[in-house]
Amino acid sequence: MANYLTRPYWWDAAEPHLSVAASSPDNLPKHVETLIVGAGYSGLSAALTLARSGREVLVVDAEMPAYGCSSRNGGLIGPSFHKLGLSGLKSAFGQEKATAILRESMDCLKYLKNFLVEEKIDCGLHLTGRFRGVVKPEGYESVARESEDLASATGMQFEMIPRAAQHAEIGSDHYHGGVVYLDDGHLHPGLYARALVERVLVAGAQIIAPARVTGVTRNGAKLTVRIGETEVTAGQVLVATNGYSGPEMPFFHHRVIPIRSAIIATEQLPAGLMSELSPKNRGFGESSRLVLYYRPSPDGTRMIFGGRAFDLADRPDRYVPDLRRMMHRIFPQLSDTQVTHAWSGTVAYTFDHAPHLGVHDGVHYVMGYCGSGVGRASYFGRKVALQMLGDPEGRTELDDLSFESKPFYNGTPWFLPAFLRWNSMMDRFGL
Ligand SMILES: Cc1cc2nc3c(=O)[nH]c(=O)nc-3n(C[C@H](O)[C@H](O)[C@H](O)COP(=O)(O)OP(=O)(O)OC[C@H]3O[C@@H](n4cnc5c(N)ncnc54)[C@H](O)[C@@H]3O)c2cc1C
Repeated sequence: MANYLTRPYWWDAAEPHLSVAASSPDNLPKHVETLIVGAGYSGLSAALTLARSGREVLVVDAEMPAYGCSSRNGGLIGPSFHKLGLSGLKSAFGQEKATAILRESMDCLKYLKNFLVEEKIDCGLHLTGRFRGVVKPEGYESVARESEDLASATGMQFEMIPRAAQHAEIGSDHYHGGVVYLDDGHLHPGLYARALVERVLVAGAQIIAPARVTGVTRNGAKLTVRIGETEVTAGQVLVATNGYSGPEMPFFHHRVIPIRSAIIATEQLPAGLMSELSPKNRGFGESSRLVLYYRPSPDGTRMIFGGRAFDLADRPDRYVPDLRRMMHRIFPQLSDTQVTHAWSGTVAYTFDHAPHLGVHDGVHYVMGYCGSGVGRASYFGRKVALQMLGDPEGRTELDDLSFESKPFYNGTPWFLPAFLRWNSMMDRFGL
């Protein structure tokens, strides 16, 4: 029997279904001006912008508001640069567009920081930077070059930390130095989601959950959304279902690759140990092929440690031992530490590693943050709402990227477990 809770640690402070007064599905209207599918950061940010512009807005969620990634994530915030980096983007789009895409990533982070301040949202925000450890000695120079390129293209602030100085950043000998991204930080994802929900309701929008959309059809300018036995017509529809996009809306299902990301939270640790592990309260990542992310809890008492899960299904019996092993490799000091919470969620990868927003067959959409969506979903959720309002401020650098699928991909990433295990093996052998 597992001796940890299989639910997000964040729900101790902000459980989705206890934190909001979402209406009952019986209250579904016959018609609404704007209907948003998905009540995560994307759908809620869009709803807030639309409702504050005077639109009548209904948000529906299949589960509960912020039940998906938005109350499950690691809470690490940063610019989330495109995986291809400056050189990859340059070969794909040319220098000017590549730089513009990367600069907009910084805009996502700036937007989120400003929004939290302007809205006076108290969600454990710590702008203490992120240390990214270098896993192979020869990797240090390439991380330094990559950081310099990004900094000159975007104004990002960074500092290289040689191995001899790394104990000032992290209580670990696992890395061969690293880089600190000084603009980054971390927050409490559940409290941020709850604050968004509250503001959306205050702005006059309605949230109805649980209410699963089972299809959207277009007849001329008329959009009909099916929710159970009920049909709701809407002037505009926005789909913001990200890694939870199901077969009920095949266009999105066939374009998003759902990848499971999992997290464990440790028991409370002695204050001395926490300040040894993270002397500057930084978030952490590393330069391995497989994503690992970790950070102190907002109250500075626990380690929150996340990475990819190898199974498509939610299998804490398998990912908890994997994550514990990885955590102990970095922090042997935690070998006897108990795990109190373990949970997972599905992030949305796309075939070109970029988020996508636009209109398909009369239906607006925004999704595909490739595992880094706290800032991006907030920013692009607002942008897509501005586009729906016809506001030129809604323009983004991603508007002209076409949202591609691949032949034979039906929305089930059967290839992922093998792909992830292969990458994990390469990491283990330092290749
Ligand atoms: C374990 C984990 C760790 C992560 N860590 C980080 C991190 O540290 N930093 C970072 O930047 N990002 C992180 N992310 C990613 C980030 O959380 C997401 O990119 C972001 O929350 C996406 O928000 P969203 O609103 O687009 O999607 P979601 O929050 O997933 O919301 C989608 C919603 O759509 C609903 N839905 C789906 N289908 C239907 C339907 N048919 N009808 C009605 N509703 C439907 C779902 O119930 C869900 O609530 C992490 C994600 C996970 C899972």
